[in-house]
Amino acid sequence: MPDAPLRTCVGCRQAVPATDLVRFVLLDRTLQIDLGGTARGRGAWLHPARECADRARRRGGFARSFRQQVDDTVLADLFG
Ligand SMILES: [Zn+2]
Repeated sequence: MPDAPLRTCVGCRQAVPATDLVRFVLLDRTLQIDLGGTARGRGAWLHPARECADRARRRGGFARSFRQQVDDTVLADLFG
């Protein structure tokens, strides 16, 4: 297997193999998890960890990544 591409977690800002992260996409300004990692459009990557989700929410990591305000209620659904 070739090395997985590196992606930066929007929570902790660490660059890690994409296989360690979950991909999110925007649909009508609403953050959605992209389980297959194949949805079209710009993606943002996050560790599947509450700590990283909390950091991303506090610091607006997703809004910065998508360059617009995002509805990130999915994070509360996923990580509490
Ligand atoms: Zn992280």
